[in-house]
Amino acid sequence: MTRKLRAAVLGATGTVGQRFIQLLEDHPWFELGAIAASGRSVGKPYHRACSWKVPEPQPEYVRDQVLSPCRPGLEADFVFSGLPSSIAGEVECDFARAGYPVVSNSGYHRMEEDVPLLVPEINSDHLDLISLQQERTRSSGFIVTNPNCTTIALVLALAPLHRAFGLERVSVVTMQALSGAGYPGVAGLDVADNVLPYIEGEEEKVETEPLKILGNYKDGKVERAEFAISAQCHRVSVQDGHLEAVSVSVRLLPSLDELVETLASFRSLPQELDLPSAPRRPVVCLEEPDRPQPRLDRNLEKGMATVVGRIRPCPVLDYKFDLLGHNTIRGAAGAAILNAELLRARGMLKGKE
Ligand code: NAP
Repeated sequence: MTRKLRAAVLGATGTVGQRFIQLLEDHPWFELGAIAASGRSVGKPYHRACSWKVPEPQPEYVRDQVLSPCRPGLEADFVFSGLPSSIAGEVECDFARAGYPVVSNSGYHRMEEDVPLLVPEINSDHLDLISLQQERTRSSGFIVTNPNCTTIALVLALAPLHRAFGLERVSVVTMQALSGAGYPGVAGLDVADNVLPYIEGEEEKVETEPLKILGNYKDGKVERAEFAISAQCHRVSVQDGHLEAVSVSVRLLPSLDELVETLASFRSLPQELDLPSAPRRPVVCLEEPDRPQPRLDRNLEKGMATVVGRIRPCPVLDYKFDLLGHNTIRGAAGAAILNAELLRARGMLKGKE
């Protein structure tokens, strides 16, 4: 391996940005080049600008690093974006036009036709969209996105089932952690002793993103997978970890054992390539009747797996189960870092001269 590639983190002071900083400490392939955030933070050292909320300690290496504006010109070979969607649209395009690969965690560009919505275990062939995107923008830069935090936990479990048995219908009811709303996020008085049955825009994302991720890449286009998803999303008073109650119907009905084995044995490209952030098991199946639970299970496989439990027949659809994903690790910064590792392994991220 040649020298480490330098990553800039946009939105470095936010909930997702902090995870990037924590996960990039001692990364074998990448190092932090620059950090950037809003005008509120520009010019300040990181420890002053940022209200650190990640349970692990703030790494020493970033403490005194000064924040820059989110504008091209940053010392970096590529960019991670943890910006709010409202500003990511324009800022990420500016970086891509200036020749930077942008590995984004924001929602803005996810559903664009020539932007890969990448999950390395599922759709690495969608990376072929990048050359079409570069032709359109006439730039060596490009944008690659990872899914919404709820979608990715769900789709890691749906992918092996769809391949083996063909999904027909999916119903999912979510119980989503507070950190998913960023910082300061939901007001304490709204969520204490309460459950909020509405998260703006979330159900639409969960009902559409999996169909692009599981779609077939053909003739320069992703043809959406054809099954129906119904999502009902709730905010609950948990710090990290989205729990999802899922029911599925399938075209080829497996036995319960076959279904469990299909989930538990799922392995794919990141595991074959031994990418540094790849979970050994992308889907972990638990047998205990009262698991998964956010507090106990969110850090399995370093927060990079979907943890499934309570797999059983469903009297309405065919099978039902619960799953859990760590929303700021596999649901956000960890997903983007794994995407960058795959790009690096494919020769699509290079050091600038
Ligand atoms: P957050 O905690 O509110 O952080 C937002 C970050 O963006 C901060 O660093 C903030 O900098 C910066 N920022 C805000 N306005 C800006 C502006 N006008 N110009 C430049 N920088 C600006 O949000 P978050 O939860 O980390 O979410 C970031 C993105 O990730 C969103 O698109 C979100 O949908 C997505 N996402 C979040 C999660 C999650 O679990 N939280 C999961 C998946 C995806 P200052 O500190 O200087 O204001």
